[in-house]
Amino acid sequence: MSEHVVKMIEEEDVDSRIRELAKEIDEEYKGEEVFLVCVLRGAAFFACELAKRITIPVTLDFMQVSSYGSGTRSTGEVKIVKDIDLSMKDKNVIIVEDIVDTGNTLSTLKGFFTQRKAKSVKICSLLDKPERREVNVDIDYVGFTIPDKFVVGYGLDYDQKYRNLPYVGVVEFD
Ligand code: 5GP
Repeated sequence: MSEHVVKMIEEEDVDSRIRELAKEIDEEYKGEEVFLVCVLRGAAFFACELAKRITIPVTLDFMQVSSYGSGTRSTGEVKIVKDIDLSMKDKNVIIVEDIVDTGNTLSTLKGFFTQRKAKSVKICSLLDKPERREVNVDIDYVGFTIPDKFVVGYGLDYDQKYRNLPYVGVVEFD
């Protein structure tokens, strides 16, 4: 089966929305520092662009959890493949995700982080697909709410392809 990508959110719109999110974070944490935890691999592009636009002090670390294999369906089971290296104790943690779909990944991660005695834990996701939610999660900062379509680009892949697209697009199967 072959596929093609149809543009959904233009590069300029993603960029300007990221600037707005950075501004919101700057204002909310004024006089403090934030610890961005980027969930690999999908959130890598978003986390870097967001970090570059935040003006208060930022610490950045990366973790990887198991998610979709080569298909488009979640297994519902979340495992930590790579943990962060820095301590999050007493830090204002912001988990940076590419997309919230069923909510399984983030609800597991959030609980896990709270146990580690972070000062606060918030969630920032570039995309939100609320129609498929199975677990309720509060997303503090959302870039775009999108319909139930399988999207790629800006870090998101299909079978490891299309992460490098500078826009968000929908995969359509021929
Ligand atoms: P959840 O645990 O919320 O169901 O899934 C979150 C993860 O599933 C995301 O971090 C992402 O890796 C993957 N995911 C969910 N929806 C999509 C999508 O539309 N496109 C891609 N490429 N990945 C998705």
